[in-house]
Amino acid sequence: MYNIYLEENKLKYELNELVKMFLKPSEFQLVGEEEKHAAQITVEGISDKNRAKRFLFDRLREITDKKPDWGTLTGVRPAKLAMEHFRQGHTPDEVRSILKETYYLSDEKTELLVELCLLQREILKDCDPDAVGIYAGIPFCPTRCVYCSFTSNQVKYEKIPPYLRALEKEIDFVGQHLKNIGRKAESIYIGGGTPTTLNPQDLDQLICRLQSTIDVSGLREFTVEAGRPDTITEEKLRVIKDRGVDRISINPQSMKQRTLDLIGRSHTPEEIVKAFRKAKEVEIPVINADLITGLPEETPEDFDHTLQQIIELAPENITVHTLAVKRASRLIEQDADYHYRQGEVVRQMLAIASQRLRQAGYHPYYMYRQKHMSGNFENVGWCKPKTESIYNIRIMEEDQTIVAMGAGGISKMYYPAENRLERIPNVSNYEIYIERIDEMIERKRKGITSPY
Ligand code: SF4
Repeated sequence: MYNIYLEENKLKYELNELVKMFLKPSEFQLVGEEEKHAAQITVEGISDKNRAKRFLFDRLREITDKKPDWGTLTGVRPAKLAMEHFRQGHTPDEVRSILKETYYLSDEKTELLVELCLLQREILKDCDPDAVGIYAGIPFCPTRCVYCSFTSNQVKYEKIPPYLRALEKEIDFVGQHLKNIGRKAESIYIGGGTPTTLNPQDLDQLICRLQSTIDVSGLREFTVEAGRPDTITEEKLRVIKDRGVDRISINPQSMKQRTLDLIGRSHTPEEIVKAFRKAKEVEIPVINADLITGLPEETPEDFDHTLQQIIELAPENITVHTLAVKRASRLIEQDADYHYRQGEVVRQMLAIASQRLRQAGYHPYYMYRQKHMSGNFENVGWCKPKTESIYNIRIMEEDQTIVAMGAGGISKMYYPAENRLERIPNVSNYEIYIERIDEMIERKRKGITSPY
């Protein structure tokens, strides 16, 4: 057990997060001023944040012999930080030096960030600066995954239509309000939960409602998350295609039956293959596949096997997530140290992903991190050229207003002059959302404003 003394100041929280990158909660304790003489590490008298973090990193490295790839970065958006340095006018080489020297990033993560920033600058260069992203949430899934920490309810279908009526009310308001203040949609994303839990008629009605009320004259992308293969039917895919939705996400997570059973998914690998084939037949332009590294009992060979099967199905996008064991999940109740033990396995899986995906013609286009990720690694979106999802880039860069509707949606109003975001949350319980829909609308009336 290590004793660590962190001076009481505004840096303490972030420094504590950095300690957790090296040590499990059971391996250290923070001690107070009176016990600091017995501490193996003492951080005090350093007011500069980055200097304090480097100092602590060096001490932790000495005692643990570990060197986390993301260096001193504890936040969830490293690409946003790198982009800030590009915006300040630094060259790629200067950004590389800053990432390595100021934040101690590994060579590999430095190159990943520089590659992403250069690509994203290119993609975003001709965008309408006043356009917004639109999100509509369907907080229902057939079963609950063991790692789930999202708004996801398992209900009889009769509970869903009242929710859709409330959501339509919010969509109608948002559509009119955005037109009144002169803002168009750049992208629309129907997420969840699992939107394809809806029957074909309800799905059709929802897509139409969004397209008819919101100004879509400048729309660049429309995604429907078709997450669970067991909810995908040909009829729903045809609705999606016929309405002009150009991107779906099918989320296999793994192609190993034992893993699917362990994580609480009620479908088979064969159903995954069928869903992809159907989506290709229907000619949805861009299909994304979500995979997860670090799933229970999986070896690097299992992951490699999954990845090869998915590459064969030829989705345009493949997003490789690292399992994050969050507080609200069942997995953390079963095994609190899970993500600490998975570090080495995940490292190998991510190396396999990078090698195989580049070989198959994919490149990375966005990334983010979450708390409690196995081995403190990252999620990376890979894609075939010219199929990058603009919504995904925007949500991680936080450089655009995103209007989120439905239970659990958190809208983010972006003020470019101050490079500042203001959050406008909806309640996350779907029944309370229905009851308080007028209040959710009122929050948006006040919070979503004209860009001028
Ligand atoms: S599909 Fe997604 S939202 Fe639904 S239970 Fe699984 S992790 Fe949660």
